[in-house]
Amino acid sequence: MSKRVGIIGGGQLAWMMAAAAQKLELQLIIQTASATDPAVSIAAHTLYAPIDDAIATAELATACDLITFENEFVDLKALAGLEQQGVLFYPQLRSLAPLLDKYEQRCYLQQLGLPTPKFMPVGTDLAALETALAALETAFGFPVVLKARRLGYDGQGTLIVKDPQSLAAHLSPPRPDTWLLEEFIPFDRELAVMAARSRSGEVVVYPVVETQQVNQVCRRVFVTEDFGNSVVEQVRSIATQLLDRLDYVGIMGIEFFLTRDGRVLINETAPRTHNSGHYSLDACETSQFEQQLRAVCGLPLGSPALNCAGAVMVNLLGNEATESDYLEQRQQLAALPRSHVYWYGKAARPGRKLGHVTLRLDEGEGRSQVEALAKTVEKIWYGEEPMG
Ligand code: ADP
Repeated sequence: MSKRVGIIGGGQLAWMMAAAAQKLELQLIIQTASATDPAVSIAAHTLYAPIDDAIATAELATACDLITFENEFVDLKALAGLEQQGVLFYPQLRSLAPLLDKYEQRCYLQQLGLPTPKFMPVGTDLAALETALAALETAFGFPVVLKARRLGYDGQGTLIVKDPQSLAAHLSPPRPDTWLLEEFIPFDRELAVMAARSRSGEVVVYPVVETQQVNQVCRRVFVTEDFGNSVVEQVRSIATQLLDRLDYVGIMGIEFFLTRDGRVLINETAPRTHNSGHYSLDACETSQFEQQLRAVCGLPLGSPALNCAGAVMVNLLGNEATESDYLEQRQQLAALPRSHVYWYGKAARPGRKLGHVTLRLDEGEGRSQVEALAKTVEKIWYGEEPMG
């Protein structure tokens, strides 16, 4: 079994692997740019370099049995040379290749016959753009969503555009390799799921959760699976097909739109642990972090089942212009019954994900309790700010 796991990326997602690594007796060796990144404190060793520095990854490889990712903003082409020389990457680079560019990801999902919003490439010049705009009116019309094809996160790089004039303004000059254009989905809810696949092809799927975003950033995750069997079945089937077709090894987060007529469309995939799975640390038999390490190390997967009646997770975003450590609010959150507070130790900035809190439900509790608990947490954290 592999003992030394290299991780590209040193943020909170790598930091939260610490307990699982200890349990499984693994050493985590991290490649990250900054000594103040959260995972530096839990790493057996840190290699200080940007995550897209493949020369540094070659050095990382000499200290590890295999390498995995907590951040997918890597230079895949440069890593391919290392894989050819025998460096083990899990997920394998060919499983990541169709996913890292949002336009290519949409094309890939469409090829597999998996449901996504309608989408279009952006024209290569002004004439092509005009043709595209005309086609767009017939294909899906306004508003449209314009997304950065690469490196978008937390809604940065996602724009909702209301009319052709604003779209033309955004796309002048047209840069087809920069943008993806897709239909706006007036969704009923947004859903997400974590799924993992082992080296031997075993797949496990976690509970389907509801995510709620404020200003396009995930604020709350409700784990109550109250959408009905058809929705859960659609999500599970999409997740299993996608991981199988990619020959994927590791954990993946998949985000969905649930339409008003009960259809599930894939919004995007994250080929790693994901914010929507943080509740699993406290509310599941096997956390997403342990599952990722199990999958990439060739261990049997653990059960993804809930160990309680449900849960609610609220992200703690920086909301003050100061570098506050929010100690008083954190203490109040920790004092709530059945709460688990995680504080990533990052420099505070408005809008930055600084931590999260998960509250588990008791038998018989459901949707109304998670709504009330989320409100209690947000009152402590965000004061009187409206829920959004
Ligand atoms: P990121 O990769 O930055 O998280 P997303 O593509 O997930 O960006 O978009 C962020 C949020 O913007 C989504 O959670 C959703 O609320 C909204 N959004 C994105 N695409 C669409 C769409 N096609 N229709 C409606 N809302 C969308």
